[in-house]
Amino acid sequence: MSTVFNFSAGPAVLPREVLVEAAADMLDWHGSGMSVMEMSHRGPEFMSIMAAAQKDLRELMAVPDNYQILFLQGGGLAENAIVPMNLLGRKAQPAVIDFIHTGSWTGKSIKEAGKYAQVNVAASSKATGFDRVPARADWALSADPAYVHICSNETIDGVEIGVPPDIAADTNDAPLVADVSSHILSRVIDVSKHGVLFAGAQKNIGPAGLTIVIVRDDLLGHALPICPSAFDWKIVAENGSMYNTPPTYGIYIAGLVFQWLKRQGGVAAMEQRNITKATLLYEYIDNSKLYFNRVAGVDRSRMNVPFFLRDETRNDAFLAGAKQRHLLQLKGHKSVGGMRASIYNAMPIEGVQALISWMQEFESAHR
Ligand SMILES: *Cc1c(COP(=O)(O)O)cnc(C)c1O
Repeated sequence: MSTVFNFSAGPAVLPREVLVEAAADMLDWHGSGMSVMEMSHRGPEFMSIMAAAQKDLRELMAVPDNYQILFLQGGGLAENAIVPMNLLGRKAQPAVIDFIHTGSWTGKSIKEAGKYAQVNVAASSKATGFDRVPARADWALSADPAYVHICSNETIDGVEIGVPPDIAADTNDAPLVADVSSHILSRVIDVSKHGVLFAGAQKNIGPAGLTIVIVRDDLLGHALPICPSAFDWKIVAENGSMYNTPPTYGIYIAGLVFQWLKRQGGVAAMEQRNITKATLLYEYIDNSKLYFNRVAGVDRSRMNVPFFLRDETRNDAFLAGAKQRHLLQLKGHKSVGGMRASIYNAMPIEGVQALISWMQEFESAHR
């Protein structure tokens, strides 16, 4: 079987071990005679899958006891509406939401939140092409926002907020909401610094269709009356993420990924590997004459590495040669162009090394 290295930003590469296990379970999960896809979500078999996935994620992320882990649907984009519908009820209307605009994904969040509240863009790096995280000292936060929204890894622009910012003192203790879709489980994240974290699964966890929400208990029960019941976190929490049918197969695969992560040594061990992979690639790019990355050093994403060829007329040749070498889905997002290598947890270091070899070969041929 040929080995490919898949650099897609999402849906993205999954650990091979997990896919092999899922294939073996496909027709008959653990002697049940059923595929996981065919099981009642309320039957004992799926209930055990759900409980293990919840427990393993809580352990991997060291989620404190006063936080709920919810398994929802709708993806990261739906959360851009679900978050305000759940949190705005804590404030008199019209309330204000603060945003740190660091790239395309926060751009979408700002637009959507504007349907429900006043939006204050407290800081933005738009003017410099989203090449950095605006310095914390320059954030013009509101005195009493309903919450402060960040995207801690901008998947398209390749900008990462590694350490959650402290905002409490400036904002009357507003909750920090983080879209962690594309770096959840790639590094140690201090959950307790957040009110809410949310992530679509298809970047670093599993198949599209599952959304994970981690929410502090005191933020439940404040949904606006217009919030659909299936997206009201309090109702979802009270029903163990089974108010409506959860995305059962996605939860099952996510559960296998959580077990795989534990076998790898957990999130801290994964973070060390991710540092090694990202450093290798960025150092190569910075030392090359043909390629460049324009994000400020400390703000560079370890998961999504956008890079450009100085001679853009060679983009197609670069991609065609990459494909011949089984290096797939390297084309950059249409809004920024160039290339993007997404090197999530499931990308082995051999994939990064193979990419660098091809980049070197291409560079020597075009010197
Ligand atoms: C992919 C992504 C989303 C959107 O996810 P959907 O599942 O398509 O709604 C939102 N935020 C970030 C940071 C992402 O990477």
